[in-house]
Amino acid sequence: MASQEIDALAQALSKLPGLGPRSARRVVLHLMKKRESVMQPLLRALENVNERLVTCENCGNIDTVTPCGICADPRRDSRSICVIEDVSDLWALERSRLFPGTFHVLGGKLSALDGVRPEDLNIDALVTRVAAGGIDEVVLAMNATLEGQTTAHYLAERLESYPIRLTQLAHGVPVGGELDYLDDGTLAQALRARRPVG
Ligand SMILES: [Zn+2]
Repeated sequence: MASQEIDALAQALSKLPGLGPRSARRVVLHLMKKRESVMQPLLRALENVNERLVTCENCGNIDTVTPCGICADPRRDSRSICVIEDVSDLWALERSRLFPGTFHVLGGKLSALDGVRPEDLNIDALVTRVAAGGIDEVVLAMNATLEGQTTAHYLAERLESYPIRLTQLAHGVPVGGELDYLDDGTLAQALRARRPVG
């Protein structure tokens, strides 16, 4: 029905979250019809991001500069670190605009099932940041899943000897809930009502 190149594009798109083979084909058709107004700007945007994509050496965020835009922003409160599992959680918290501090992205969660160990996550860098001093509070904003809570517990142990306030999100995050899927109000409530760990 279509050339190899077009098929390859549809296949590549069908691997994106939320797109199956059918919707990928619709996207391809749309791109081809709107070559100048949609396909070419998309291509340039992809190239720009792809060329400059980098992991922040300080917090593990993915950005086009390192330190990332958040770490480099002098208006952020660098004495406060919110630890999250993934960049999607960082984006969710940024949408709520309620956390004025900086972040630390673990890049996953501890999982015996999937064989994810502490050394597989961006944990040592967090401990190094805290050990360097100048940190008042660390907020453990893990997902309210069993693995998220296991991860929070492990982090609490690793950080307990440092003179910081260690807090975690309050309930309001439903059990089994993932931050990225919460509405902003629920997330805001959970952040506002954060409580000491342990
Ligand atoms: Zn950063």
